Order: sequence, then C-alpha cells, then structure tokens
Amino acid sequence: MSKIQDIRALLNKYLKELFLSTMRQCYADLAEKARQDSLSYEQYLLHLAEQECISRHNNRIERNVKESRIPRDKNMDTFDLKRIPGKVAHQVRSLVEGSFVDHKENILAFGNPGSGKTHLVCALGHELIKKGRKVYFAPCSLLVQDLLKAKQELQLSRILKRLSRYDALIIDDIGYVQQDRSEMEVLFTLLADRYERGSVMITSNLPFSKWERIFKDPMVTAAAIDRLVHHSVILELNIESYRMAEAKGKKNKKTEDDTMKDST
Ligand code: ADP
Ligand code: MG
Repeated sequence: MSKIQDIRALLNKYLKELFLSTMRQCYADLAEKARQDSLSYEQYLLHLAEQECISRHNNRIERNVKESRIPRDKNMDTFDLKRIPGKVAHQVRSLVEGSFVDHKENILAFGNPGSGKTHLVCALGHELIKKGRKVYFAPCSLLVQDLLKAKQELQLSRILKRLSRYDALIIDDIGYVQQDRSEMEVLFTLLADRYERGSVMITSNLPFSKWERIFKDPMVTAAAIDRLVHHSVILELNIESYRMAEAKGKKNKKTEDDTMKDST
C-alpha cells in the first residue's frame, strides 16, 4: 500500500468515483511542484481544488455557448465599436456588464440591413454567457416555425417552459419574413410569456411604425410593442451597411491598384 503506484491507482479510482477529473489529471504534476516549492498540504490542496473549479467553470461556459446556438465568430472581439454611433457604443459598454437581465430588460436593435444588429446582439449574448448566464439565439422565422409545430402537437407550453430557462432569448430579424396569423399568434404568446420574466433581445429592420405587418392587427401590435418597450434599451444603428462599406473599400482598393498598374 505504501508503494507510490498503489497509492496512485487508488487515488485515480476515488477521484474518478467523485467525478474530479481535473484533479485526477493534475494531482501528480502539482504534487511534484509542491514538493519543489515546499508548499504546505493546504496550499497543495488549494491549487488542486482551484484547477478543478477553473476547468468546471470553463466547461460550463463552453456547454452554454454550444447550447446557445450563437455563432461563435460574432463576439465582442470581432465587433468594431468605433463603427457604430457614439451613443450606441456608450449603451453597449454598460450592457456588457449584463445587469439588464437581472431586471428582465429587453434590448431592441434597429437599423438597416448590414448595420451590425445581429453581430451586436450576438456579441452581447457571448458576454452574458461568459458571466454565467444562459442565452438562446434563434432567427425569428425558425423560432416561429418551432413554436407553431409545438402548438399543433399540443406542446406549446412545454417549449415555452424550456425557453423560460434562458436568461435572455435572442430573436433575430423579427418581421423579416412575412408571417401569417397563426405564426404571429405564437410569436405574441412567446413575447407575452416572457414579459417581466426574462429578457428578450430583438433585431429588426422594421421600425415600430411598420410592425403591423408582423402582428397584423393594430391592437395586437400595440400590445406586443407595449410589453417589449416597457423595460427596454433601444439601440438605433442607423448607419451604412458594413457589407456595403467593405465592398466599397475593396472596390476603392481595386481602383487604386488599377491606377497604380496603369501608371507603371
Ligand atoms: P444586420 O444584422 O444589421 O443585417 P450583421 O450583424 O449581419 O447586420 O452584419 C453584417 C456583416 O457585417 C456581418 O458579417 C458582421 O459580422 C459584419 N459587421 C457589421 N457591423 C460590424 C462591426 N461594427 N464590426 C465588425 N463587423 C461588423
Ligand atoms: Mg441580421
């Protein structure tokens, strides 16, 4: 029993049984280092416990990113805050702290196609996940199809309950696809269900004045907007399309290159 191999075999077995996989992986190396640095037993155990906690935290975040379905590349590191109006950049800097989900506040991002709405709300979603929140991203048209199918199968309340587990729900491109009445109804049911219970982050190319196209009926439209706006932050991205600017940039570069070629 005193042999180091026997001790390690048993230790491996116990740590496995206790689901302490990171401790199992690194106890031997850390023990060696602890001997070299003459650490106390408590300090060694502290380092081991720390490693286990760090890897569990990272694994949980990784699981939440996957489950959120937010595109990985749409994050704050790849988002250029200098491209958006100063007021919105200021709002974003405070939103990244994430307290808006504690107050069940909504974020409504408006702007032309290509102005960066989707990227921005996704980046905010990633920031929330980093802080331990659960987020779910769905294009509005797909989400509505899922809700409608669930309704037909008498499973609507189940799916609403499942969605209620997320601190924030990103509904991308509301109003982009024309919906019929039954689709609009399930969307309204979802928004009413989340009202004051969980944050919604919505992007839309349509200003509120055109939302009757989404909800068909003026009363339903007013009720939907009223619930969304009640506790909300509105981000107005009235800027040129990023795609267009990039394309123009490339075109200008090409013209410059051609001029250079011509002059040589
Ligand atoms: P929208 O949802 O408003 O139509 P997107 O968020 O899809 O626009 O943006 C269009 C493209 O431009 C995407 O590839 C996006 O990553 C990129 N983009 C937009 N705004 C920015 C920005 N401020 N910084 C970096 N990339 C951006
Ligand atoms: Mg978009």
